[in-house]
Amino acid sequence: MEQAELVVQSQTADLPRKPRKLVHRAKALPWQRVRHGVQAAFLLLNAWIAIQFYLWVRYFEQGGAGLYLPRPAGVEGWLPIAGFMNFKYLLMTGRVPAVHPAAMFLFLAFVLTSLLLKKAFCSWLCPVGTFSEFLWKLGRHFLGRNLHLPRWVDLPLRSLKYILLGFFVFVIGTMSAEAIKSFMQTPYGLLADVKMLNFFRYIGSTAVIVIAVLVFASVLVKNFWCRYLCPYGGLMGLVSLLSPVKIRRDAEACVNCGKCANACPASLPVDHLVQIHSVECTGCVECVAVCQVQGALQFALPPRPAAHLSSRWSRRVLRPAAVAGIVAVLFLGTVLFARITGHWHTNLPRAMYMDLVPEANQFGHAGF
Ligand code: SF4
Ligand code: SF4
Repeated sequence: MEQAELVVQSQTADLPRKPRKLVHRAKALPWQRVRHGVQAAFLLLNAWIAIQFYLWVRYFEQGGAGLYLPRPAGVEGWLPIAGFMNFKYLLMTGRVPAVHPAAMFLFLAFVLTSLLLKKAFCSWLCPVGTFSEFLWKLGRHFLGRNLHLPRWVDLPLRSLKYILLGFFVFVIGTMSAEAIKSFMQTPYGLLADVKMLNFFRYIGSTAVIVIAVLVFASVLVKNFWCRYLCPYGGLMGLVSLLSPVKIRRDAEACVNCGKCANACPASLPVDHLVQIHSVECTGCVECVAVCQVQGALQFALPPRPAAHLSSRWSRRVLRPAAVAGIVAVLFLGTVLFARITGHWHTNLPRAMYMDLVPEANQFGHAGF
């Protein structure tokens, strides 16, 4: 028999102690191994895209000399604003935009991921999320703990990402389809990806200081950037409210040990809730990974009305491989669809890139 019976006593101070009862120790599922594997694969993919894109830019900067590698359209995953604008263009015209279509497809794939699996984009795919997680774990390793900002600081700071998101939604929301198309066809719009690369290649001292402050804050406070400042994460959080898959606690099985709440990077009171609705839940499943009581905490669809609690299938619980599979199918399926339908690459003549790329730093923002 895989499950060993043991006696567990409630240890949570602010809850009434439960009487000693027999519980089943859950067979540990490799949640974090699988999630970290997906994060590592996506990080490597992004590293490869960055190298290929850099070599592509250098080719044009050198007047067509050196190694030529095709432009990796996946770089447009780093252009979420272009993706958002193109999505609006698609909704208004029914046509897939010609410039940065991959930005739109990747934007849709990531939104869909959050729609189905909470903010799994942030905790399973986003390289910034992966780096943020590495930083706070580094801080915890060397300092013994992370800082928890008091509620009166935490709450207003959390609103910042929605203010930024609201700004982008307002600006893009007031643009006509024609204005979006015109913007994308300006040199600034065409070379948004090159401008982004050059921002890091020729980074100024102010930007270095800002990034250093963010890195330092991320070592001290869990997911500082994602929790307080990232408008993309803010959007994913709002979308994730509709997600049918949530962290669900079975209060009958739970022994109120509080391990899940302690493990939660978003500081959610997992041990007090029956399901986690919060926009801050990233679907990182750190809570499920530490819960040792069989069936007490799951990443699951809503239970069927008459579900028998001992049946995993009747409660429609997801396993690590299933979550990884859904994430992979959404991402790869979207890319494949865009490629097959001929809407993946921005097809500009090579001569145009030859003229524009070396001059990229001279093109200012055209304004919305
Ligand atoms: S859900 Fe699991 S980890 Fe959380 S309090 Fe209950 S038994 Fe402990
Ligand atoms: S509730 Fe669980 S899945 Fe959600 S953020 Fe906290 S630890 Fe991660």
